[in-house]
Amino acid sequence: MSFPMSGFVRASLLGPCLAATALAVATPAGIDNAALANEADGANWAAYGRGFSEQHYSPLRQINASNVSRLGLAWSLDLSFSNFTTTAPLEVDGVIYFSPGVSEVHAVDARSGKERWRYDPEVYKVADQKMRTSWGTRGLAFWKGKVYLGTRDGRLIAINAKTGKPVWSVMTVDPDDHRYITGAPRVFNGKVIIGHGGGEYGATRGYVTAYDAESGKPLWRFYTVPGDPARGFESPAMELAAKTWNGEWWRHGGGGAVWNAMTYDAQFNRIYIGTGNGAPWNQKIRSPGGGDNLFICSIVALDADTGNYVWHYQVNPGDTWDFDASLDIELATLDIAGKPRQVILHASKSGFFYVIDRATGKLISAQKFGHVTWAERIDLATGRPVETPNARLPAGEALIWPGPTGAHDWQPMSFNRDTGLVYIPVIDLPGLYSDKGIDPARWKAPKDVEAAFGFNADNTDTPMNAGSSALVAWNPVQQKAVWSVPTPGIQAGGTMTTAGNLVFQGQMDGRFKAYAADSGKPLWSFYMANGVLAPPITYSVGGRQYVSVLTGVNGQPSIFGSPVAQFGWQARVHAKRLLTFVIDGKAELAASAPPAPVVPLDDPQFKIDTARAEKGKELFLEKLCSMCHGFGAIAGGGAPDLRASPLTLSPETFAQVVQGGILQARGMPRYPELSDADLQSLIHYLRARARESLAATNKPQ
Ligand code: CA
Repeated sequence: MSFPMSGFVRASLLGPCLAATALAVATPAGIDNAALANEADGANWAAYGRGFSEQHYSPLRQINASNVSRLGLAWSLDLSFSNFTTTAPLEVDGVIYFSPGVSEVHAVDARSGKERWRYDPEVYKVADQKMRTSWGTRGLAFWKGKVYLGTRDGRLIAINAKTGKPVWSVMTVDPDDHRYITGAPRVFNGKVIIGHGGGEYGATRGYVTAYDAESGKPLWRFYTVPGDPARGFESPAMELAAKTWNGEWWRHGGGGAVWNAMTYDAQFNRIYIGTGNGAPWNQKIRSPGGGDNLFICSIVALDADTGNYVWHYQVNPGDTWDFDASLDIELATLDIAGKPRQVILHASKSGFFYVIDRATGKLISAQKFGHVTWAERIDLATGRPVETPNARLPAGEALIWPGPTGAHDWQPMSFNRDTGLVYIPVIDLPGLYSDKGIDPARWKAPKDVEAAFGFNADNTDTPMNAGSSALVAWNPVQQKAVWSVPTPGIQAGGTMTTAGNLVFQGQMDGRFKAYAADSGKPLWSFYMANGVLAPPITYSVGGRQYVSVLTGVNGQPSIFGSPVAQFGWQARVHAKRLLTFVIDGKAELAASAPPAPVVPLDDPQFKIDTARAEKGKELFLEKLCSMCHGFGAIAGGGAPDLRASPLTLSPETFAQVVQGGILQARGMPRYPELSDADLQSLIHYLRARARESLAATNKPQ
């Protein structure tokens, strides 16, 4: 995509079904269906969204709106500078489990912050090009004494929760494909299910696979998009789906990666999966002539025992904008027109908030919760969007809201059963989609793990004022915002809400905040000495309620350059941490440098060759360097800012890192295919960016 503006920019409500099982009591090894369904017991936070409903809601109220001002730090734990602290922790019986670094798992005592064990699957030794996909693990699963981890290279690993030793490990993908795992596995009925990412990086065809939670034996797999018809269809659902595709879509993979949301519904014994964009994004390439392209950008209900298709609701028919339907699928029972309805709540990347009947998959209502220009509305009779005339780029280029970040991204929303409101971290950021000059017939998915959108892409910084963000409290019955507060920058953290009338959210300016859930009144704030994007959790140990959250800026927000870099968090300066809070906590955060903008390093002797720098600029995007180091080589804090790195002043060391992979264990991928001339081009680009940035800084105002 051509992103002239920047890299990406251019381009009572209590569920009765849950209350019915409120008798079970969790025991140390006892996280099972009964425990995950018993959402009235707030002691543990044993799954990504806490219980089966995935509401990110806790019934605990020891910490509440009237005493949250006394909330203080219980302890903090410094983590390695290596990438990725986007993980939602789990807490089971006084132990916190979380996944920092590249797919590591750490277990920590919730009361003391003392580490129990650490498990490193040594992803860098086996992940090869999948190291380049650059996303952190967002969460883990827990079931009967085991912790479940999906790794960047595509393994699903069961770990003994007491010892940290692996019990079993299965490879869920082809080691040579473009699939990788960042999402949390889910466990139900003794089965553990996992999907994968990869729809942005090449010819990827999405699926989810269920395994036996005890043994790792594969049980069933559901593909989300059809493969090559000549090879036969895996299921009647794929035969049905194939009728909605055109051309030779299977050559491009098709997409539909299930990289995030998978929600188990105990009432119907179904699993709802949220599928991602088509591969490539651009439908003119993927399925020339159009078509709905089932089941991309859809919520699909599967029988939890067999993986058989039950129903689907396609959020974005024939998507071409990267509006994944992969964000939270949260379950609730809402009183609609005087009747209790069992529903799915889904704030899509597309900017519409959907309320869907769980029994049938039929749309009940949908309204815009953010700035949306690609569609006027969702037609309730057909369930389909009414697209605007420019939505599919008739002129080859259009600025569209939202852009590829969506109006809501992976940072979870939360649903409060008491207020009946959903707390959404909302993004207001457009994308300039352009396919000018691209011949759909000649476009080919790259063999390497590389950017593969099917749009023109451009590695330039994002203007500081390109977008904004807000925390929005949404009434899903009335489909309207009840309150909204602006949040700093273009993205903020995931939310968590409690029966204490509280909403917690971390923000990019380093503030961790609590608001009154009913009114949005700010009640508490703590300076975290780093940006916070990960979702918080809360739980109770020894009669005290705790709140835990990870700090650190990384993953997708950090690619945007200036709007993220403006906060001054630096990857090797500002510690990433796990912080835990309790009423009257008196611990002090270790001293930390104040946030400050990166100061680029110049080498006045270096003569910049403009043509080489231009080639380096392209490589920086194509090889996914910008995924960590930022568009325009302006890092947001997730990885070192290369304009300031002494590495680029030494061609030998630069080659050892980039071609030789000597920093792989710290998260830096290896690029053996890059020639010495390619490396020189990258160096010329980085030198040019450093000099340009210094000149801009020193310019008289
Ligand atoms: Ca996507």
